[in-house]
Amino acid sequence: MIKPSVTCPGCTCLCDDIEVVDSDKLKIVNTCRVGSEWFSRNLLDAANPVKHQVDGKTATLESAIDSARDILQNASAPLVCGLENLSVDAQQATWKLAEAVRGTIDTSLHCRGRASMFSLQKHGKVTATIGEVANRSSLIVFWFCDPVKTHPRLLERLGRDGKRVIVIDAAATATAKEADQFIRLPVHEANAALMLLNAFVNDKSIDLSGLAAYEIDEDTLQSLATELVSSNYGAVCYGHTDHDSQFDPATDQLALLVRTLNLKTRFVSLSLRQDGNAQSAENVIAWSSGFPFAVNYARSMPRFNGNEFSAASVLSKAECDAVLVGPIDANDFDRLPELALAHLNRVPVIELTTGSGVIETAKVMIQVAAAGIDAVGDFCRLDDVALPLARIVTTNRPAAVDVIRSIHESA
Ligand code: SF4
Repeated sequence: MIKPSVTCPGCTCLCDDIEVVDSDKLKIVNTCRVGSEWFSRNLLDAANPVKHQVDGKTATLESAIDSARDILQNASAPLVCGLENLSVDAQQATWKLAEAVRGTIDTSLHCRGRASMFSLQKHGKVTATIGEVANRSSLIVFWFCDPVKTHPRLLERLGRDGKRVIVIDAAATATAKEADQFIRLPVHEANAALMLLNAFVNDKSIDLSGLAAYEIDEDTLQSLATELVSSNYGAVCYGHTDHDSQFDPATDQLALLVRTLNLKTRFVSLSLRQDGNAQSAENVIAWSSGFPFAVNYARSMPRFNGNEFSAASVLSKAECDAVLVGPIDANDFDRLPELALAHLNRVPVIELTTGSGVIETAKVMIQVAAAGIDAVGDFCRLDDVALPLARIVTTNRPAAVDVIRSIHESA
């Protein structure tokens, strides 16, 4: 028996033509390598017996929720973070909880990949759905990203017929091998190259005497600018050139370039993120508070000041006395600065996890169902379209949204 198509949350493409063949072994069809790994890993976690813990000892769900409530009630500055792997309704529930306990809420445990958010606030974004890009674009530029590796079915989804594909990156990536043109650009030249492209697109005369010091040459940039302007409809899919900075000037220039190109043709941009449903978390917090992440409710009203109230900053400055963290990967935990890690080990932590947990010092650990495996819920595609994820197996794990609402109602 074949169940109706389900959606894969293995990457932000959210392919919705995945089929689950219901036999002794669940066989998932139409997924790429990344999607197959996602389903295998999460089905394995879902098959394990459910285990909640309080103080390192096995506990019932009710007592784990009671302990979580006590921790939040006794805290004067709780931090709620790690929303990347939660569905939209669970993210909304965490925001309501953070507001109720007058805490700080952040989408992630760390600030990696946040560099383009400040450009978004400054310049906005010109974007479109995957379907519009597939149907209308004649040129696709991949800027410092490698979708063949990270979003394997994206090229198929965007369609290659009648489109030219250009890859700009520091090294010949897997995507570069499938492109019509590869332009090698060292990371440290990305910003300067974009400034020059902006100038060429604007037909401004500029002093190019400094260009001799660069690997990229004027002719390549000039012909690229001509190609961008002469495309009927172009799209740039981008990654960050600086993942850890608070502000990435190259992403800022890229946003400006897309805006400038729209004075001459139609051009859109899509960010190829690798942080699960984090884009949705930013949307949820922005709808609710007016700010996309790192929002503080200590004075009842939302306060935002760049990364001041980010989870990493609040932990590093020891400005929280309890933490509730959603399902995170070990990598997220490893990216925390040392000072933040030290404080995280000192304060009571409530960890919601779809696996066996990554925070060894967590006082309360609650195993929750994963959307797309044993829970339903919406995830946000890379073009900001929300798609429903189906439940494909039944387990005893509670849905994250129910756990968060129970903690909120009892707090
Ligand atoms: S491209 Fe992404 S969403 Fe599509 S099947 Fe692969 S991992 Fe899943």
